Amino acid sequence: MNYEPVIGLEVHVELKTKSKMFCRCEANYFGEKPNTHTCPTCLGLPGALPTINKQAIRWCVLIGMSLNCEIPKNSKFDRKNYFYPDLPKGYQISQYDSPFCKNGILRNIGIERVHQEEDTGKLIHEGDSTLIDFNRSGVPLVEIVTKPEIRSADQAKKFLQELQKIIRYLDVSDCDMEKGSMRLEPNISVRKKGQTSLPAYKVEVKNINSFKFVEKAIDFEINRQIDLLEKGEKIPQETRGYDSVKNITYSQRSKETAQDYRYFPEPDLPPIVWDEKEIKKIKQSLPELPEIKLKRFISDYQLTPYDAALLTEDTNTADWFEEGVRVYGQAKPIANWMSGELKRYLNETGKTVLDLPITPAHLSELLYLLDKGEVSNSNAKLVFNEMITSGNSPSSIISQKGLTQITDDSEIEKAVQKVLSENPKACQDYKSGKKQALGFLIGRIMAETHGKAPANKINEILRKLI
Ligand code: ZN
Ligand code: MN
Repeated sequence: MNYEPVIGLEVHVELKTKSKMFCRCEANYFGEKPNTHTCPTCLGLPGALPTINKQAIRWCVLIGMSLNCEIPKNSKFDRKNYFYPDLPKGYQISQYDSPFCKNGILRNIGIERVHQEEDTGKLIHEGDSTLIDFNRSGVPLVEIVTKPEIRSADQAKKFLQELQKIIRYLDVSDCDMEKGSMRLEPNISVRKKGQTSLPAYKVEVKNINSFKFVEKAIDFEINRQIDLLEKGEKIPQETRGYDSVKNITYSQRSKETAQDYRYFPEPDLPPIVWDEKEIKKIKQSLPELPEIKLKRFISDYQLTPYDAALLTEDTNTADWFEEGVRVYGQAKPIANWMSGELKRYLNETGKTVLDLPITPAHLSELLYLLDKGEVSNSNAKLVFNEMITSGNSPSSIISQKGLTQITDDSEIEKAVQKVLSENPKACQDYKSGKKQALGFLIGRIMAETHGKAPANKINEILRKLI
């Protein structure tokens, strides 16, 4: 291939602040009755004035810091003018030439800017009419723009997954693409290999709602554009949509330029001058970020990269693990149960560790009982599955279900004798050299002792008595 893709990303993230960006209306609109979270300001009524939600702009800066951005001392809001029915003011309050954060980097991809703006209302098409819900209007929205330094669809997907993980670590947005709290817009162009200047055009694909679809839309665009260039055609600057059923992109409109938006400083809001102390305070509130946590888990707990990745997928899982290690004193067994039985249960039920009726102390207690030989390995799984649904303590489950291990050798000997006398053929087979017969007998003895005898004890006594 003589061409290479040039890809940049624009990501919109809704902050989960209590109130909206410029008014006191409740920001959480999901599932609410339409037009119940509104006021003159977010309805864009004449004369209504905006006031800044300080929490939102601190969180915007926090996102910028997590992406290694510079935070300029001076910043301001601007009006982005355009006419669309979901925008009753006729403009969106956004940031133009002095965003809160700029020049960051993540995974070797430059971050152009991170700025603060407000969400628009939501159009709902029903038959011949279009309805509008203003609950979403004015919800704080952060836009993250990368430099066009991404070179493949796979790289774009991995970048976005990491970005989502980081913002979730910051606990400032759900980044839930199905609910629209994270929206992805890749812009794609291609150029001849070896060419260093940027292509003269850019094709933006709007509002994609899954990582998989971003990957597919980018791949589709790369191929479509290369085909056109090879035919000697010019590619127009435009905005396209993505049809996930047909897996194609389609033209929506020719792209607006910044000039079309007639940006100018928002006259109803004062410019922002950050106080150094305030910036320091925000910086101090930065949590340990995913990559650093991952490395620490590998080195501090001697975990495999696989287990460490799994346990640092989100902060709740990571905290659950570390709490377990604190209580039990060892990392490996906690990691094994979490990446095995616990993960299986969470996957099957679609739950997270926050939904569990048990605490890390429950798992630690189970591990203690296993260590002391009070429960067998196979019964420990039974106990685990019981406690994870009932929330009961492992020791109470063990005594309730009569799963306490047999520690009295004579009781095991009795069971071995019984099984041997009932299975003379297997005995003979073993003595004549068929080693598999031993496994058969062990299975019978386990059944006879209801799984309550330790396997190593059974083995030892059986070899003695056979
Ligand atoms: Zn409002
Ligand atoms: Mn935007």
